[in-house]
Amino acid sequence: MLRKTFAILIIAILFAFYFVYPLSAPTNGADMEGKNTAYHIKIKMTSQREFEVEEDIYVVNKGEQAIDKLLFQVFPKAFAQPGTSPIAATGYPAGWSAGNLVVNEVTISNQHVTPFFEGVLMVLPLKNPILPGNGKTVKVKFTMKVPLLNYRFGRYNDVVNLGDWYPLLVPSGREITVYPSVGDPANASVADYSLDLTIPQKYTAVTSGVLTEQKDSLLGHKTLSYEGESLRSFAIVLGENLRIKRSQVGNTNIEYAFIDDQNTDVVVDTLKDALFFYEENFGQYPYPKLTLVETYLSPFQGVEYPGLIMLASRVKDKEDIVRRVLAHEIAHQWWYGTVGNDQVREPWIDESIATYASKLFIEDQLNKDFNFGSDLAATASAGRIDFLSPVTAFENREEYLTHVYYGGAMFWTALEHQVGKKELIDFLKDIYREYHFSEITTVQMHQEINRLVEQ
Ligand SMILES: [Zn+2]
Repeated sequence: MLRKTFAILIIAILFAFYFVYPLSAPTNGADMEGKNTAYHIKIKMTSQREFEVEEDIYVVNKGEQAIDKLLFQVFPKAFAQPGTSPIAATGYPAGWSAGNLVVNEVTISNQHVTPFFEGVLMVLPLKNPILPGNGKTVKVKFTMKVPLLNYRFGRYNDVVNLGDWYPLLVPSGREITVYPSVGDPANASVADYSLDLTIPQKYTAVTSGVLTEQKDSLLGHKTLSYEGESLRSFAIVLGENLRIKRSQVGNTNIEYAFIDDQNTDVVVDTLKDALFFYEENFGQYPYPKLTLVETYLSPFQGVEYPGLIMLASRVKDKEDIVRRVLAHEIAHQWWYGTVGNDQVREPWIDESIATYASKLFIEDQLNKDFNFGSDLAATASAGRIDFLSPVTAFENREEYLTHVYYGGAMFWTALEHQVGKKELIDFLKDIYREYHFSEITTVQMHQEINRLVEQ
């Protein structure tokens, strides 16, 4: 009874929001034709703090309108000032530490261009628009400073996390000027990557891509070359004391990079089991490799990037939490990585499905009920589950988790009770196939759910 009432409540909320929520323009879910946008990046570590980077982006216009300006998210800029950092100055482990990204030169089709910035958004006006089906090469040279911070972009002890670190092309309408303190900031379409990373020999690197070549260079350095196809982002983690354990599920190579883990089996087994489980339920994992890396990360327990997941070192010895975090973050490879969405304005899509997927995994594998979190019952009974809001609507992380992750997953659970578990999983399988390497909006998801409910 309670479940039925809850299902009706939740679906009513979804429908109500359909009329009042600011909706973004629907995109075509079909596969795009033609060449992908491609990044070619050369990044060199000049100290643990600083990097020099040359980034070439071949931008393809896959839309139907001419493009007259290019928008890039430059998230490291947020770390230049305490007032713009996503982490309060008091949250820095050794006091405030500045990071930054300074653009030294930009050319488009070999012509110099002066970028202008609005917060973390870099705008490049185009003298000659890019017509549909055409492309242009943008070259950006920059230096980057990494703050002393245990965050997705930061360095702590001997580990350097580079997440959302380079100027990242953002589709018009999905850009932001402020790095939000809650949720995920990036909103890129998939692109192909080749990246050369030059680091001192003593470092071990793991990335979103696949290692294709390693060359030793002068003065104790090495250059590692990586490639990756159809990635929304390219993350890197470097460490002086990272060790790697490798394994395989089907054709997918798995690597677990760890700082100091006595209990690698729990992590590696969960990684393998979840990969297998989601392939069975949603469809094939789209990349040749999946990396999990233990790193210093706060306030997160885990963070997802395509082909690479960061796991917070502080939770690695707590088996229940590790399983729960991994189940959620691995599900993001399907929901966010492969089927994208506007992570800032419509974060419920990937977060609620990843949480619902982790519920399916935990119930199936551990034969145990999924705990939705202690605050949720009170929130639900107060009738104010607000899972469709943008990340900026939430005051803090706990509120965001309660509403978007758990409230959103309760919506899918209610829908499961209404249409049946197998039917809902088949529905998600169809969405995975239909929106593969594309993006789905709230409007489209609403239409798809309507079709499922009316069947
Ligand atoms: Zn998530």
